Amino acid sequence: LRRSRVNDLLTSTDLNRDVLVKGWVRTRRGNKYVQFIALNDGSCLATLQVVADLSKFSEESLKDITTGASVAVRGQLVASQGKGQAVEVQAEEITVLGTADPETYPLQKRGSDQKGISLEALRDIAHLRPRTNTFGAVLRIRHALAFAIHQYFNEHGFYYVHTPIITGSDAEGAGQMFRVTTLPPEHPPRTADGSVDFAEDFFGKQTNLTVSGQLEGELAAMALGQVYTFGPTFRAENSNTARHLAEFWMVEPEMAFYDLPDNMDLAEDFLQSLVRYALQHCAADLQFLHDTYDKELLGRLQFVVDNQFQRLTYTEAVEILKTAKQKFEFPVDWGTDLQSEHERYLVEKHFKKPVILTNYPKDIKAFYMKLDDDGRTVRAMDVLFPGIGEIIGGSQREEDLGKLEARMAEMHVPADELWWYLDTRRFGTVPHSGFGLGFERLVLFVTGMGNIRDVIPFPRYPKKAEF
Ligand code: ATP
Ligand code: MG
Ligand code: MG
Ligand code: MG
Repeated sequence: LRRSRVNDLLTSTDLNRDVLVKGWVRTRRGNKYVQFIALNDGSCLATLQVVADLSKFSEESLKDITTGASVAVRGQLVASQGKGQAVEVQAEEITVLGTADPETYPLQKRGSDQKGISLEALRDIAHLRPRTNTFGAVLRIRHALAFAIHQYFNEHGFYYVHTPIITGSDAEGAGQMFRVTTLPPEHPPRTADGSVDFAEDFFGKQTNLTVSGQLEGELAAMALGQVYTFGPTFRAENSNTARHLAEFWMVEPEMAFYDLPDNMDLAEDFLQSLVRYALQHCAADLQFLHDTYDKELLGRLQFVVDNQFQRLTYTEAVEILKTAKQKFEFPVDWGTDLQSEHERYLVEKHFKKPVILTNYPKDIKAFYMKLDDDGRTVRAMDVLFPGIGEIIGGSQREEDLGKLEARMAEMHVPADELWWYLDTRRFGTVPHSGFGLGFERLVLFVTGMGNIRDVIPFPRYPKKAEF
């Protein structure tokens, strides 16, 4: 007899047959005639009801079937008399695979439902929280979105390229980089002037964890046309916010022959497609999160799918913010970067829809963005989402070697370190564009969770990297 998954049994119409199912006990309840075991195996949110008739099982034989224990059940799949489920399993044989001592099992009280245990407290037992309904739902949705991303790009002629995690340049993320080294921390080799001698290090130079795969992605786009990366990125920034992690996953498409409007069209269609995919494929998990945490979740997701994003320039946005009635913590002035309070005002209060802001002042954006004709702004775009703020940052890239070198000099970006990047402009340069989507910000939006630490299995933030 082959094992069936709970999800397949719950949707099966082939009844009155012998089945084998394995999973974890969520709850056991009942009376002295019959016991009901709610069994979950991760294949879906719902549990399968296993009925143990006490004429067949002694109370003693069921004593280890407690919340969190793992069991294998053989029995008959039958129509259920009870409310809330179409089928149940009448147990013939129950084997306890692993016990979970009720005295010490951390999720005991709630039958592995997170109610009553705060999301904050669950972060301290991140190794167990996937067993709660909430994190089961979040992780299935996260999986579905990752899958949808690959599917979208595959269907649209993009190639998936892998960019390095360890990088030899720190031109892009000055001050935000995690160093990678094999030098002994106690007595690292020193040069004559007393500074650490990285020539003795594994790679013979200073290396770091990547903050973005974009620059390498551009190289690939200059050969393959349309590419994307989807990998982990690392930023040693202040991640004590509900929107920042020290380790997060970024999706970065890069397209030759795309200008800024093409880039915006892609970003909008991409995001709408992903949200639509989740609505279609994660209905039960989304409904659970909607009912449990956020009664506006499903409406918000459908709204994003159904409505065009608002497009306007940074300059126009600053005008709106300056005349807004709302008091902001940080004042808005042309030339300063927008804070998330400003972004969210535009999205949630003013336009009441997702916004794409373009043409930011050059001084607050990266060196590789294409300069506008006015010489003051660049062809940047940020996509802003309700409840999130910035979800995507992108731009048309500067394709002109001379202009790019001038920008780098102006911003003190070391050209000698980026000689390989400049070669793309030196040989067969073309107009091109791309963007970075923070994968966890997408998952945050789709799940409606309040904190980015709750949409990744093992969050990394200041003072948090235990396991
Ligand atoms: P923010 O303004 O929110 O700090 P950013 O402008 O510094 O973001 P980019 O360098 O533009 O970020 O990175 C591209 C995308 O990666 C962002 O739009 C965001 O979705 C995501 N992102 C950036 N930093 C983080 C982080 N620390 N944790 C999670 N996602 C992030
Ligand atoms: Mg940032
Ligand atoms: Mg930003
Ligand atoms: Mg950005």
